[in-house]
Amino acid sequence: MKQAIGKPTLEDELQQRFGTTDFQEIEATLMEWDNDGICEATDGCIVEPDGTCEHGCPSWLIRLGFI
Ligand SMILES: [Zn+2]
Repeated sequence: MKQAIGKPTLEDELQQRFGTTDFQEIEATLMEWDNDGICEATDGCIVEPDGTCEHGCPSWLIRLGFI
């Protein structure tokens, strides 16, 4: 059972964006982006892998502590 409605957890965010909470699958996606020199920010903007979008959202690589 889910807990009471509140701030989404990281797992919720991952499930929503990547359709999985499997860290290995997510990491593979992130590495693909990184190979292209891009990354998606947590709000869906495209930023540099170590970047933050104009709305102040960090790239997923930063969000997940890869860099
Ligand atoms: Zn943004």
